[in-house]
Amino acid sequence: MAENRKKVILSGMRPTGRMHVGHLAGVLTNWIRLQDEYECYYEIADWHALTDDPARAKEVNENVLGMVRDWLAVGIDPQKAVIFRQSYVPEHAELHLAFSMLVSVPRLLRNPTFKEKLAELRKKKGYTRMSLKVERLDVEDEVDQILRFVREEDEDKARRMLSSVINRAKDEVLEKITTEVSLDEAAIPAEISYGLLGYPVLQAADILLYKGEVVPIGADQLPHLELTREIARDFNRIYVPVFPIPEPLLTETPKILGTDGRKMSKSYNNAIFLSDPPEIIRKKVRSSITDPMKVRRNDPGRPEVCPIFHMHKVFNGEEVDEIERACRAGELGCVACKNRLTEVLIEKLTPIRERAESYSDEDVLEIVREGSRKAREVAERTMEEVRGAIFGP
Ligand code: SF4
Repeated sequence: MAENRKKVILSGMRPTGRMHVGHLAGVLTNWIRLQDEYECYYEIADWHALTDDPARAKEVNENVLGMVRDWLAVGIDPQKAVIFRQSYVPEHAELHLAFSMLVSVPRLLRNPTFKEKLAELRKKKGYTRMSLKVERLDVEDEVDQILRFVREEDEDKARRMLSSVINRAKDEVLEKITTEVSLDEAAIPAEISYGLLGYPVLQAADILLYKGEVVPIGADQLPHLELTREIARDFNRIYVPVFPIPEPLLTETPKILGTDGRKMSKSYNNAIFLSDPPEIIRKKVRSSITDPMKVRRNDPGRPEVCPIFHMHKVFNGEEVDEIERACRAGELGCVACKNRLTEVLIEKLTPIRERAESYSDEDVLEIVREGSRKAREVAERTMEEVRGAIFGP
């Protein structure tokens, strides 16, 4: 008889703050769709949030309720998906320990996210032992424009364009460091903890504790999932087969840029949050950068470099084609374009914010406790199998 049970999906987020429109366009919209098709476990990854800064435990704890409130407000349904807190299910830590014996240190050192963090840290500390060749940035047009503003004594515009060029340069240099740095080139800074190095093992434990069969990820995260697959295969080979080998569910995440043109992130202070009231949305959209080359209303613009356009693309499907055409043709000014986006965002986000506010702390806590209780039932069963597989009955 054909099996008609739903496949298991595990996905999670670190509780680092309230959700912004980038989360909504990427992860959350996808989660809402998946909860009807799969048996979903959505994890509040609080242990993960400590791997790069153990001192922020209090802040992480305070962020949990706000994050889950936003999940519920956008439509994550606790009747369909299990919403649980990682630290309420201690079996994550036990499976992490069992898996940590199956992974070599060199394998973890090769993990791309670890290399990225290492590069960031080295940059912050001013490590200079790496040889780095950064190709010239193509910013001649922008530089000409800055000089023009300076000549015209428009200091405000000159500064804004300069900061957009600097941000682009920073991102490109960081990307180069990440790709080109080799681990032999400099010592590993003391700030790199054992927990940070081992976080992909904890991630493998998160997925396999629920026997996750499918993991929704972007193509850039495939190397992480590969480590989970290796651990599952090794465990099944060394002991007895317990775990499925999870498959990626490749998901396209629409590009949403922050108001300064960099990746939208709370830490860059460039995000529009789902909980922002209309006057804050207005202010943030108004102060957002656009295409720095479109100076006058009738200059033709380049929507592909404009954060405002990327948001129109995701949240204003009806008008986006016309906006793109009019921008390129120099028929639409940035002020009008921003006003249109502001109205769309206010219309979209107001009901979400109101729904989020309608949950009391106690409602949210109860949902998290109940989800964690359900998750723990599954986790305990898996750990019994794991202990049996390792040590026998
Ligand atoms: S008209 Fe709109 S899409 Fe074009 S550059 Fe201005 S804000 Fe961006």
